[in-house]
Amino acid sequence: MSTENVADTKQVVLIGAGIMSATLATLLKKLNPGISISIFEKLDVISGESSNATNNAGTGHSGFCELNYTPQKEDGSVDISKAINVAKSFELSREFWSFLVKEKTIINPQEFIQAVPHMSFVWGEENIDFLKKRWELLKEHPLFKGMEFSDDWDEIASWIPLMMENRSKEEKVAVTKMPAGTDVNFGELTRKMLLGLFYEKEIDLHMAHEVKDIHRNSNGKWEVKVKNLTTKKKSIVEADFVFVGAGGRALNLLEKSKIEEIKGFGGFPVSGEWLVCNNEEVIKNHHAKVYGKAKVGAPPMSVPHLDTRLINGKPSLLFGPFAGFSTKFLKNGSYWDFFDSMKKDNIGPMLSAGAQNIPLTRYLIEQVRQDKKDKIESLREYFPNAKSEDWDQKTAGQRVQVIKKSGRGGILQFGTEVVSCKDGSLAGLLGASPGASTAVAIMIDLLQQCFPEKFESEWKAKIQEMIPSYGKENLDEAYYNESRNKTAQALGLSAISEDENIPVLR
Ligand SMILES: Cc1cc2nc3c(=O)[nH]c(=O)nc-3n(C[C@H](O)[C@H](O)[C@H](O)COP(=O)(O)OP(=O)(O)OC[C@H]3O[C@@H](n4cnc5c(N)ncnc54)[C@H](O)[C@@H]3O)c2cc1C
Repeated sequence: MSTENVADTKQVVLIGAGIMSATLATLLKKLNPGISISIFEKLDVISGESSNATNNAGTGHSGFCELNYTPQKEDGSVDISKAINVAKSFELSREFWSFLVKEKTIINPQEFIQAVPHMSFVWGEENIDFLKKRWELLKEHPLFKGMEFSDDWDEIASWIPLMMENRSKEEKVAVTKMPAGTDVNFGELTRKMLLGLFYEKEIDLHMAHEVKDIHRNSNGKWEVKVKNLTTKKKSIVEADFVFVGAGGRALNLLEKSKIEEIKGFGGFPVSGEWLVCNNEEVIKNHHAKVYGKAKVGAPPMSVPHLDTRLINGKPSLLFGPFAGFSTKFLKNGSYWDFFDSMKKDNIGPMLSAGAQNIPLTRYLIEQVRQDKKDKIESLREYFPNAKSEDWDQKTAGQRVQVIKKSGRGGILQFGTEVVSCKDGSLAGLLGASPGASTAVAIMIDLLQQCFPEKFESEWKAKIQEMIPSYGKENLDEAYYNESRNKTAQALGLSAISEDENIPVLR
């Protein structure tokens, strides 16, 4: 039992100021303008963790280039269902962001989204075969129209000259190219959404406030115990609904709430590192996000990619992420996070998941042992002329992969999972991938899960007004063409000019 008095009462408390809380707060305010919301963020900046531009890869995941979304089955066939789901989810995001721009909740969208072609790059007969099969299936789907395939050395060199310089013409390579790809600065988007909400009533954002505990009181409400990290003062805020959008720390906070539904869940932290190019001449010569194939044992999010990014208005070039291991659950977290998350009910699933993922453990050990020289060698598989002095190492965000009970053991999964209590009054998000790109779809699902009656009777229709493709199945090519054109126009989608690094409209 706490000794403090309740300092404030809110309908909704959101923990963390990352893309997920910002998306949920914006959706809730659009659906129910009078709702009272408090957001607590332990850092003194908005989106200082995974949502920050250099902590993630900034790919608007649409299934265009990520080969792990189209696994090859044992019989050789390629399963494209996950890529289609991711593409559909990203269309929801584009439609929602466009709606926010049109009604001026957010301004200057070109500061957070750019058109950058998405490509997949493979070498060797077997991989080329796989890429071609994947392309033949995808190009027939309305969401993937316009995808091109090439195994012609010269054509590929015209698409990605940097990657073909000093590469033997004898080497067999193949590429798919999707012009409709995007680069997204999710940190900037988060700031824009939260700033947009400042004009609304009944919403407050408390920076440098850490949530220490959550428990249900005798009135059935949630008491959220918060520490002001500047004054060191603790207070309690009472809420009808709590969302734990604390990124990697969501697991620990959900455990503190003692909801039944979190039992058996564990977390496996994977850290990351980029190589960041510091040579402007090199940066100028690459204009794509180019994803390769993951090595055996690599977690799906450790697929290497060479990415054009626009960070704070400046074109940049990043390669990675290289995976690593740290017991922290946040980049600014504590080495105790992992141990703190271990409970009687999740030790079994965690040990079992560990035992089943020996190749992953081996891969992580190998990655941790890599020095800059090894990393530059990996980069040279993509960019043969890479010079070590042109690249700096930079730590990326921390991901906590979900471990959950499965039969008598546990499994490690690489997606995201919303965990909510039975009456829907508390929910949290575990996991990271495909993550920020699909924040809109994830948060709509969360609303449906936690507020089923209100959702069906009122909110669903309002969501369909804001996001026209929501809830519609089997939309055709004409629909997606028109929708992509409209959202491209609303978001001012522009590409970084191949000649001068000047944004041009697409
Ligand atoms: C290396 C890497 C590459 C990625 N690439 C992509 C990509 O290309 N495309 C994509 O769509 N997604 C990508 N992701 C995933 C994406 O970044 C995440 O899914 C997304 O940012 C998660 O947002 P969030 O709001 O849940 O968490 P976060 O952005 O981590 O925000 C959580 C916030 O909660 C705060 N917090 C934590 N504990 C407390 C507490 N006790 N009290 C108060 N505040 C607290 C933290 O300080 C933080 O600000 C990538 C992630 C990583 C790590």
